[in-house]
Amino acid sequence: MILIRQIVNDFLGLLFPYLCNGCGIQLYHGEKEICTKCRYDLPFTDFQNYAANPVAKLFWGRISCNGAMAMLYFRKGSKVQHLIHRLKYKDQTQTGIELGKLLGERLLSSPTYQTTSLIIPVPLHPKKQKSRGYNQSEYIARGIAEIMQVPVSTTHLIRQHHTSTQTKKGRYDRFENMQSVFTILNPGQLENQHILLVDDVITTGSTLEASGITLLATPIKQLSIAALAYSE
Ligand SMILES: [Zn+2]
Repeated sequence: MILIRQIVNDFLGLLFPYLCNGCGIQLYHGEKEICTKCRYDLPFTDFQNYAANPVAKLFWGRISCNGAMAMLYFRKGSKVQHLIHRLKYKDQTQTGIELGKLLGERLLSSPTYQTTSLIIPVPLHPKKQKSRGYNQSEYIARGIAEIMQVPVSTTHLIRQHHTSTQTKKGRYDRFENMQSVFTILNPGQLENQHILLVDDVITTGSTLEASGITLLATPIKQLSIAALAYSE
């Protein structure tokens, strides 16, 4: 049966080849979403191994984190940008899961993150989620969860209403604007949890900061932050 399934899969692969979301070449057996070469070429930060990494420093004095990291460097025109673009705007949610698994492997290798007990993706604006149809960070979280064997929650941290455009506002205005955005449902269920807050790309960190502050107002034990990529 396995052989027949393999033959059918090979035949379907000839008609509808699975292509790498990084470079567009046809994937081999066993390759999922991203080809071996693209995976090898990804610019890993190894931030999970350094407490004083640039992402952790970004949050110093802003929120109290057990650990904060991003897996990849994000540069304009790079393969990382291309992959994340496909995840966010081209319905390539499986790529989010695969990148999440790579992230999960790194988190699991670090004592800082090993005690994670619940993974929470940063919620999108409700309007944005409606127009996109999904939250890309939720798929990253699911990939992490598969590796770390920890549950994902999308029901505790809630984004309440649409914020006005942030592009022309200063950092403090943005901060003020974000504060009213997040709320917690059933905070008692978060008691003593080590929460891993997950986002796609970290730039200013203002969204993670606002959601982190909201979570830290509940009786959680620890808060950590992980993102796919960090934009310097
Ligand atoms: Zn590739």
